[in-house]
Amino acid sequence: MTRISILGSTGSIGTQALDLVSRHPDRYQVTALTAYAQADRLFEQVRRFRPQMAGLVKPIDPADIPQDLSFCHFEMGEKALHTAATLETDQVLVSIVGIAGLKSVMDALDAGQQVLLANKEALVTGGHLVMDKAKAIGKPILPVDSEHSAIFQCLQAAGPNRPVRLLLTASGGPFRNWPLEKMEKATCQEALQHPNWSMGAKITIDSASMFNKALEIMEARWLFDMTEDRIRVLIHPQSVVHSAVEFEDGAVIAQMGVPDMRVPIGYAMSFPGRLESGARPLDLFSTGPLTFEESDPVRFPALRLGRECLRAGGNACTILNGANEAANEAFRENRIPFGGITRTVEETLQRLGTGPADTLEDIFEADRQARLCASDIIAEAKKKS
Ligand code: NAD
Ligand code: MG
Repeated sequence: MTRISILGSTGSIGTQALDLVSRHPDRYQVTALTAYAQADRLFEQVRRFRPQMAGLVKPIDPADIPQDLSFCHFEMGEKALHTAATLETDQVLVSIVGIAGLKSVMDALDAGQQVLLANKEALVTGGHLVMDKAKAIGKPILPVDSEHSAIFQCLQAAGPNRPVRLLLTASGGPFRNWPLEKMEKATCQEALQHPNWSMGAKITIDSASMFNKALEIMEARWLFDMTEDRIRVLIHPQSVVHSAVEFEDGAVIAQMGVPDMRVPIGYAMSFPGRLESGARPLDLFSTGPLTFEESDPVRFPALRLGRECLRAGGNACTILNGANEAANEAFRENRIPFGGITRTVEETLQRLGTGPADTLEDIFEADRQARLCASDIIAEAKKKS
């Protein structure tokens, strides 16, 4: 039996991980589950998967916990995340969204746990700290993000050779072919229509703006110790090739499959083995042509900004991430137009410059400053319009 704790169990990744658990009840047992605020959904999961512990970050009245769940120890507030991350288990899947996941990743690693990582923002902001800690405890981070899982799977064929380049694929999102003027006015509804993947709201908007791919270049930089100039982005609208690695001899190894997150989640859960995932088999006869193109730097400046931040180092990637989290939320709440997301991030980066990111405190402070600055920029834009 493999024991697994899932932080962010009510989200898109969390529920798909639990789907895998329910497909393999003889192999997986749940230790802990946490959610931010969806108490009823969490209760249902506790009833079904019977973890020792469950946590709700947004507290509720303990009297509202259903009587039949008394076998489970409930905790509320931020401390619940710490308990869930550190409770003895075999795997900790961090599928919280946003920089909120960084603390849990570090807590889990401090406790010597094997981390399965969906939360890319932890590597974007604290990649050096996370990777150093994982190395120190001798438990490499197992990636869940589909592109990074693909690269990780390809690297199983690398033997002693280092790849010369990573080829990171991107669907291009719902606005891949939209003219700039139309994108500027795109609604949240339109941005949430991802052509290939069904995901949480934040990452779906990030896919439309391409900030998701900027974050993924950063994630790959840390996971695979590659400088940004060796990470190429290929727009591949069919989402069949999930990413590839290129070797010195010219060989390119790619990982393919239908776009179903249960494949990369299952690979992290069963590495170095594999797990029946429920995903449809890939039928190459019906996929049609597979195409690859460059991203348009004019309509999607996010990649350029991401690369600039990686080259700047220090807290630049944290500032990009914090400003993007604030702008992404403002767009979802109808406070800025779609084009305002990129403008807010670029302006925040210009106003704040770059500082140190040596400690977790530095990183959380940079995140705070970035959100404050982004909020000012959003408020100023509102006044002008
Ligand atoms: P989601 O919004 O569907 O779920 C997020 C989960 O985290 C929920 O359980 C929520 O209750 C919890 N949560 C939210 N804010 C929190 C906070 N402040 N503190 C503690 N818990 C909090 O998100 P998702 O789409 O499942 O994405 C989760 C992470 O996985 C993100 O970092 C995302 O980039 C990454 N990821 C997701 C997908 C996907 O297919 N959904 C693919 C690749 C990577
Ligand atoms: Mg991805």
